[in-house]
Amino acid sequence: MRNILTVIGARPQFVKAATLSRQFTLCGIKEQIIHTGQHFDSNMSDVFFEEMAIPKPAYHLDINGVTHGAMTGRMLEGIEHILLKDKPEGVLVYGDTNSTLAGALAAVKLNIPVIHVEAGLRSFNMAMPEEINRILTDRISNLLLCPTDTAVQNLKREGFDAYPVQIVKNGDVMQDAALYYAQKAQEKSRIISQLGLTDFVLATIHRQENTDDSVKLQEIISGLNKINKEVQVVVPLHPRTRNILQQMNLQPAFTIIDPVGYFDMIMLLKHCKLVVTDSGGVQKEAFFFGKHCITLREQTEWVELVQHGYNRIVGTNPNLLLDAFQFFSNRQSVFSVDLYGNGRAAEVAAKEIGKM
Ligand code: UDP
Repeated sequence: MRNILTVIGARPQFVKAATLSRQFTLCGIKEQIIHTGQHFDSNMSDVFFEEMAIPKPAYHLDINGVTHGAMTGRMLEGIEHILLKDKPEGVLVYGDTNSTLAGALAAVKLNIPVIHVEAGLRSFNMAMPEEINRILTDRISNLLLCPTDTAVQNLKREGFDAYPVQIVKNGDVMQDAALYYAQKAQEKSRIISQLGLTDFVLATIHRQENTDDSVKLQEIISGLNKINKEVQVVVPLHPRTRNILQQMNLQPAFTIIDPVGYFDMIMLLKHCKLVVTDSGGVQKEAFFFGKHCITLREQTEWVELVQHGYNRIVGTNPNLLLDAFQFFSNRQSVFSVDLYGNGRAAEVAAKEIGKM
């Protein structure tokens, strides 16, 4: 395959796409990008294209601010239109957002092979929109690029061995990004000195299951406020969470900043004491930068981090959060275990795509 169309639209997808797009250039695969517009603020989108030198999207669909069904439906129509015109050999999608599902569905209906990066992940929680998107996307993909052994096993357990698809463990492209951009971040970012940070906990909150449940959100705020009494808590706040906090008139005691670019995020990860998050990607990035992580969810797709003792799942209970904070505050771990491919995931992925 030498000519593909990539569908991305949300912040984590920009980070994932950056390394693979670079790899395509290196190995002569022509890639065109569709940006669905799911994330559109400049600090949620443009900054990643600029810092990570992601190729400029050939198409912008500008679809956002509507319900899940409307968003996925409009994307499906927009992407189909482009596929009919451009006739790529394959469509590449990342992760588990509405853009992922819309891209995969538009392609499969036109008999265009689908490549899914981050295939096989499962939280086993069907209340999560992400879980629905990833299960459906996996089922209609032709090349399933899995980040971990667990992801491969999940697919096998669901009977994927019986389908005419290819399942390959390539590792995690987010580790490639973390390794590749760490030096550039060190040179370019000033965030640590600008904010005068010394000893701090880095936290992010944006998962719908937390932001759309006022009890859970208040519990998280209360837990982070408690930690903040001991160590400064810094939260680059997702626009969705910011809007909901405003609507609820909640004013946390910890430090809230606007969402940051990837370079600043790397520096926050490098310098923090530990990480508290409900993000998927940030759980792994904590590990890449040698930090323990407390996860504000009831389950994780990245089970190997929990099994190795790097991550603790606490849900939203403030006392459990504080317990985990105290536990990790006194803990030393060795973070050199190879769980995610050590930076070669994009290379393996591009090679497999080239063979299709
Ligand atoms: N991220 C960032 N700035 C921020 C918050 C997150 O650059 O203010 C990056 C983070 O380092 C990771 C990606 O965005 O690479 C993860 O996105 P997010 O947490 O929104 O999505 P998830 O991984 O939960 O799908």
